[in-house]
Amino acid sequence: MSLRVYNSLTRQKEPFKPVQEGKVGIYLCGPTVYKSPHIGHMVGPVIFDAIKRYLTFRGYQVTWIVNITDVDDKLIEKARELGIPMKELAEKHTREYHEVLRDLGVDQIDSFPKATDHIDDIIRITAQLIEKGYAYPADGNVWFDVTRDPDYGKLTNRRVEDQEAGRATEGTGKRNPADFALWKAAKPGEPSWDSPWGKGRPGWHIECSAMSMKYLGETLDIHGGGLDLQFPHHENELAQSESCTGKPFARYWMHNGLTRIKTKAASGEWKNEKMSGSIGNVVSARELVDTFGPELIRYFLLSTHYRRPIEFTDEVLSNCQKAFAVFTRLFERIERLGKPTQEAGDSELARVVEVHRQRFLDMMDDDFNTAGAIAVMHELAGEINSFVEKSGVERTHDAAAIAAAASATATLRELGGILGMFRFLDRQKAVAGGEDADLVEKLVILLIQVRAEARKAKNFATADAVRKGLAEIGISLEDRPDGTIWRKG
Ligand SMILES: [Zn+2]
Repeated sequence: MSLRVYNSLTRQKEPFKPVQEGKVGIYLCGPTVYKSPHIGHMVGPVIFDAIKRYLTFRGYQVTWIVNITDVDDKLIEKARELGIPMKELAEKHTREYHEVLRDLGVDQIDSFPKATDHIDDIIRITAQLIEKGYAYPADGNVWFDVTRDPDYGKLTNRRVEDQEAGRATEGTGKRNPADFALWKAAKPGEPSWDSPWGKGRPGWHIECSAMSMKYLGETLDIHGGGLDLQFPHHENELAQSESCTGKPFARYWMHNGLTRIKTKAASGEWKNEKMSGSIGNVVSARELVDTFGPELIRYFLLSTHYRRPIEFTDEVLSNCQKAFAVFTRLFERIERLGKPTQEAGDSELARVVEVHRQRFLDMMDDDFNTAGAIAVMHELAGEINSFVEKSGVERTHDAAAIAAAASATATLRELGGILGMFRFLDRQKAVAGGEDADLVEKLVILLIQVRAEARKAKNFATADAVRKGLAEIGISLEDRPDGTIWRKG
């Protein structure tokens, strides 16, 4: 099978054919850095990290760009609230974003261009759009005229007329309600840059057009992002880019499903909600990685097909822990057999492995079905385990059987490696994500209770000794009004 990719633009799977043979350019919309990253910010990076690894494995030379939106209404507002410069706020959260990516092992991104470093590129495209009649300045703003673009709305199947109803244009200088800003006039006290239309700052959508085309050319191979960015962000990116160049903006639009978290409603009912910064049910990415470890978070994010929503609940994570432990237990089991002393020859197990390897590749060729690929890895792990049991190699230490089992396991690790898995098994063991997680949790909670009792009895020496002792083994406590929480590090 050859690679097929689901294209949001055509709403079907298509054979994958990049613009330039052998080369792939991927642009993924990155974060607006006005707050700490939450798990939703990691979904795209982890998925595309696996996608890039797979494309590289298939022999493509891949360039992957993720932008940083470091100027935006939300940033301006938050910086004002905190009384710090916008740049300082943006730099702090950009740093956090990079740190979490690093700790998750997302290391395939080639560059992270920032909007504020590309103001000139943005102004140039905006000026071109005005010159070509697709955009017009009004009171220091520049608007994109959606009625000038005949296929505006094609990505999300919308018609301009449907969006016009009931929307006013008064006071905005807009010709049509659906027109969107390429350049925004500066309000007093806002960060701004000089432009032919006066002091101002770029709109959000134009940043991505300017940066993606600058680094990857006028037609990108893959444009990715969360499903929630399809409209208006990607629709507008597409309209302004294609109006500017007259060429298709992206060959394949790939949209990943959103993270859903189960929250308890006031009524006591559980309900599913999209996770986003504005709902407030956000799980900090830092906390998650520290608590569950990089292997488990990657496993969790890749074991759902990327186009489907990711259900995020304690139950799902705990199931992932159990499922992932199947691999680590197998690796340890095979290691205990000792190093093979001969080459693995042709065997029934070797043939079974080859079948699974091919099925894994078929899954990945089918629109990067990482969930299906991981399911095949589980089947393969099951085959190796049953080989170990049936062959009795743990008793006999038969050299040929050891070689066969070791070789099969090496293939399993290699397949996981294509998805970026199994690189941090030692670190994974160190976090409370291993099999002893339950025990560690219970022991720490017991110690927290002992400390609380000691404090109640005014035995502060014992209470301090518990805190100090835990700190020495890398566990810190934090007393909050509603109880004491603990974390590693
Ligand atoms: Zn974007």
